[in-house]
Amino acid sequence: MAILGIDLGTTNSLVGTVDSGFPILLANQEGQRSIPSAVHLPQGDGPAEVGITALRQRALAPERVVTSVKRLMGKRLSEVDPTRHAFPLTADRDGFVRIAIPHRGQESLSPEEISALILKELKTTAETAMGHSVEQAVITVPAYFNDAQRQATKRAGTLAGLAVDRIVNEPTAAALAFGLHRSKERTKIAVYDLGGGTFDISVLEIRDGVFQVLATNGDTFLGGDDIDDVLAQHLWQRFRPNHPPLAAQSAAIQIKFRQASEAAKIALSEQSEYIVRLPFVEGEEHFEHHITREDLEKLALPIIERTRPLCLRALHDAQLQEEQLDEVLLVGGSTRMPLVRRFVTDLFGREANTSQHPDETVAMGATVQSGILSGSLRNMVLLDVTPLSLGIESFGGLMNVIIPRNTTIPAKAGEMFTNAVPDQQSMLVRVLQGEREMARDNWELGKIEVPFDPGPKGSARIGVQFHIDENGILEVLTRNTKTGKDLLLEIQNAAVDVDDHRVEAMISESVDHAFDDMNERVFTEARLKSEELLPAVDQALNLVGDQLAEEERASILDAAARVRRALDGSDAQALKTANNALDEATQELAALLMQKAMEDAS
Ligand code: AMP
Repeated sequence: MAILGIDLGTTNSLVGTVDSGFPILLANQEGQRSIPSAVHLPQGDGPAEVGITALRQRALAPERVVTSVKRLMGKRLSEVDPTRHAFPLTADRDGFVRIAIPHRGQESLSPEEISALILKELKTTAETAMGHSVEQAVITVPAYFNDAQRQATKRAGTLAGLAVDRIVNEPTAAALAFGLHRSKERTKIAVYDLGGGTFDISVLEIRDGVFQVLATNGDTFLGGDDIDDVLAQHLWQRFRPNHPPLAAQSAAIQIKFRQASEAAKIALSEQSEYIVRLPFVEGEEHFEHHITREDLEKLALPIIERTRPLCLRALHDAQLQEEQLDEVLLVGGSTRMPLVRRFVTDLFGREANTSQHPDETVAMGATVQSGILSGSLRNMVLLDVTPLSLGIESFGGLMNVIIPRNTTIPAKAGEMFTNAVPDQQSMLVRVLQGEREMARDNWELGKIEVPFDPGPKGSARIGVQFHIDENGILEVLTRNTKTGKDLLLEIQNAAVDVDDHRVEAMISESVDHAFDDMNERVFTEARLKSEELLPAVDQALNLVGDQLAEEERASILDAAARVRRALDGSDAQALKTANNALDEATQELAALLMQKAMEDAS
């Protein structure tokens, strides 16, 4: 059974399949392997147009042409910048983005429905080329897509009549395409993927045909589109100095300048100068401007520089130095820019490998993966990692990590929890994602109330198990081991209040706050200990305190007072020291208590 490999890109999309043991990309009837991820929804009853024909409509009816819809997948309206899109946006009842273009009786469409139209187009291309129908696909997504975005991608597949067998991270797919031609030695590679809308950096290890992602990092709001934007603004200023910025102009003007900028940028990858020509920009007015590669590079450099800390962090997470890499692989259309190639060579201290077509590598990898799944390619195992830690809130508001960041998936891990307070009737399991020590600073993915029979402190036995499947989708199972009752938490999209471009922010915040966070965690842990210790000491003093020497008793009271004072402050170390001193001071008290217990028992 054939399975398609699909790169559903922000800017362009491609489809491939394995034919006679070879992964190949399929061209449409115009001979194009890559189609723009653009959808035109015409007025009236006409069918939607997809690809280059849709893109052509952009100058005429920009508000009816949807591009970069990938940036809207699984997103709330509050998380996106509507000024980035020339078409109107609205929100559904849960606040998720909808594209407000009335079409064929529908007032608006979801990003999934738009993506489904692109997928359908690719499916038709494949079916025409292969001569039979295909119902299964592997689709790639950026490594930083969260659960809501992965689910939305799967739904888009279903809407297009494709069962999505596997969601694969784009840099992983690229490495797969690359690995196909590699020997069996252990190889460490970095995949630098700069496309139109997203940037991903991944560090992978390939060993005996096994791919393992050691670390990933990236920014889903960084790419060639940003370069087009700054260049467009630069050109606009030359055309209309001292006017409001391009972003404040009509959609038609914005698109003209963006298109001209992209064309200039692409030309300047091959040649050192270029003349931008825009006839009839406004009425009778023409615009002509000479631009050099140097001019473009000056504008683009700050954008490319933004990839540097992300690369360094990925290397750091993978515990590698630049010189330990065997290979640096360039992926994504924007890596065709000479500036990007120089930048990467400089950053990693080595010439990047450009043996693959940078804009086809991901689709090729998806196709390789589809070949592995369908059995038409020799078996290779594919391992992937979690981009952020997953855990639950534990007593005291702490983040209790169950699956740490960069864990190879699929993964399963669990822990046993109990009641911290007597006669508690249930436990709230809050599923969190993030790198911060305190639960409140992480993102809540969902929650579930697990009931149990009330009893003394520590009597409940609740197992919590996390399972991330090969698509990076999370299921949380709770089990009351006394009754054997299981509850399964399905992470609902509406509950995933995660703004994915903040994944990067989350990681850097965790670094920025590392010291304060750790102090707060240590303080909280010490506080929980104090709160156990103090009542226990009071109780013991009541029971056997009269058997202590006056001095001994005074020193215990003194130590307990010190703990109480430290509890009022925020110095974690002081509280820990005070707890330890109280522990020390109560040695004899503990011995007396033990003796009394034994006497009582006999
Ligand atoms: P991708 O998302 O990989 O399809 O890459 C699309 C991005 O690559 C867009 O921003 C394109 O403008 C850019 N791109 C494609 N070809 C070139 C080129 N020759 N030079 C510079 N940028 C390019």
